[in-house]
Amino acid sequence: MVVAVKQNVSEEKLNSLVSFLKEQDINVHIVRGQYQTVLGLIGDTSKIDIDTISGLDIVESVMRISEPYKSANRKFHPDDTVITIPSAMGAVEVGRGFTIIAGPCSIESEEQIIEVAEAVKKSGANILRGGAFKPRTSPYAFQGLRGEGLKLLLEAKKATGLPIITEIMDERHLDLFGDVDIIQVGARNMQNFELLKELGHSKKPILLKRGLANTLQELLMSAEYIMSGGNEQVILCERGIRTFETATRNTLDLSAVPVLHELSHLPVIVDPSHACGIAKLVEPMAMAAAACGANGVMIEVHNNPEKALCDGPQSLTPEQFDQAVAKIKRIYNAR
Ligand code: PEP
Ligand code: MN
Repeated sequence: MVVAVKQNVSEEKLNSLVSFLKEQDINVHIVRGQYQTVLGLIGDTSKIDIDTISGLDIVESVMRISEPYKSANRKFHPDDTVITIPSAMGAVEVGRGFTIIAGPCSIESEEQIIEVAEAVKKSGANILRGGAFKPRTSPYAFQGLRGEGLKLLLEAKKATGLPIITEIMDERHLDLFGDVDIIQVGARNMQNFELLKELGHSKKPILLKRGLANTLQELLMSAEYIMSGGNEQVILCERGIRTFETATRNTLDLSAVPVLHELSHLPVIVDPSHACGIAKLVEPMAMAAAACGANGVMIEVHNNPEKALCDGPQSLTPEQFDQAVAKIKRIYNAR
């Protein structure tokens, strides 16, 4: 349930309404927006009498939220959420402007990650990506450098000042993520509910990828798992879904972007690399993502894609990435 409060209401009256609701075992989130203060009520609101609340002189309107996701719901939080990532180069704000996340699929060596990090920084990337724990279809494929990979990613962060994002696959590894700026939950773990609950207790921003065969409502329910634990810093990521089409690795569902913006206040990032699986499709689909309102893109870049240990065919060279960024920015600025 959402209670919109009238403008210029005194703190005293607002607090007494909040206390009244809390006495009935309702968790109240106060969302102070640019134009309006909204109270988001979570819990068993069935016993709350809408007419009594609507009749209060400080209340403008009361609305029940019919969707099963509450904290992630736009009705609950009308303004866009902006997630601030502090960094040595100044804060990166995901959800304001256009954020570019780039780097290799997996961290392979010190030279590789530092070279790619420096190159993507020069081209305008705001955040460095690199996988240390890799979810591979085959147990015989390269599994990532794991803890060693994280150390190398941290070195690249130190060398460039770029904040870093990397994927977690197991909550038992959380201690290793202390200096990571954004924790990624990969497509395969979107419904690993125990992992999501654990991340709900973390203070770090979480980038949550849409599962290979999940609906947008399921994506928002997974965001809800994290948010209901107290961590409201969730970034949604569309990375393509399974369809009958075989020409591309997955099918990039760009309509997810405006739909998610309508349903939710959380920022939405598009990953054209995993969606397409083909390097030459990355630039046009990233441009399309900028055109349709995405808050940013995540792009795989490798200094030698042919030799990449993971996802080489979809990785851009630093030169290709440089050209792509210029075009993506032109599209974003033309909106
Ligand atoms: C990745 O970002 O490296 C990755 C494995 O992506 P996804 O979970 O979308 O497949
Ligand atoms: Mn990859």
